Amino acid sequence: MERLYLKLWKQYLAEAADDKSILDIVRDCSKNRIIRRGMVNNDVKYIQDKLSAAGEKYKNLLGTYGSDGIFGAKTFAAVKQFQTDKGLKKIDGKVGCETLAALESNEVSKNLSAVSAPTTKPVTSTKSSTPSSASTKSSTSNKSTKPSTSNKSTKSWTTGNAAADRAIAKLSTKYGINITQTLIDNEFKQGEKIRTDNGPNSTAKAAIKKLTKAAQAEFPNLKLTIEPVSGYRSYDDQVKNFGGKVASGRSVENVQRSVALPGFSEHHTGKAFDIFSVETDWWDNRPALKSWVATNAGEYGFDVTYKKQGYLRIAEPWHLFYVGK
Ligand SMILES: [Zn+2]
Repeated sequence: MERLYLKLWKQYLAEAADDKSILDIVRDCSKNRIIRRGMVNNDVKYIQDKLSAAGEKYKNLLGTYGSDGIFGAKTFAAVKQFQTDKGLKKIDGKVGCETLAALESNEVSKNLSAVSAPTTKPVTSTKSSTPSSASTKSSTSNKSTKPSTSNKSTKSWTTGNAAADRAIAKLSTKYGINITQTLIDNEFKQGEKIRTDNGPNSTAKAAIKKLTKAAQAEFPNLKLTIEPVSGYRSYDDQVKNFGGKVASGRSVENVQRSVALPGFSEHHTGKAFDIFSVETDWWDNRPALKSWVATNAGEYGFDVTYKKQGYLRIAEPWHLFYVGK
């Protein structure tokens, strides 16, 4: 009886949820939105799935009803425990952007993400022009007991990381870009990996300004920009960055040569900076500076990531990644 109730309830949730998920708003840290006790919707269910996937401990705290879409005392306790275990800034039982990011980037949940694929995620890249939630909903609502394989076949591409997949899917829904596994594989061939959206990093930021100031002191005749021209970028920033360039008329392949797909950029970590100029010519016209940066980056804790032409990316003497000293 309880099973049937759960099944019906899950189906109801899947069908009743409208296409606008507040998850995306929560992910945008600047909006300060939270998912909290008292709420009943699919976003809550998504959170509960993530908690269950994060480990037995949280699954047990959720109790027998598991992912029922109701944010009650048990979900509250599970969230609080998760926040405590992860050492998050706020231990308040509410799911804001920090907690959501932690749930989505959780190592354990990654393996089980098929259990909890969000209903707002487009299923395939080719369906970019039509709302995709309907088909996702029907597939989610039918799998209450053995979900481990059911979602795998519905999406034609994946990075292996749910949060990155969601960001990349936005290129399709917002910019009509046809995402393929090849595009994703290109990033791996370049040597990129999934980077966690860590927010700005003040240590790295201070270090890059030391470097740019030292460069200015070394080359007093050059008028250099001390402030990095680019630093931390969120997944959503990268969606706009990549999508905007394609929207301006460039091909996806061409854009990918200088811009990583969302989820793959070192800029997500808050430890990567572009300094002075992002034009190859600009650097080639200032060979002494170019070689000074390459030689001295390490002294300030940085690596020049793209030293030479790679599978995708050209040499970028301006892109430095903080590795510490
Ligand atoms: Zn860069």
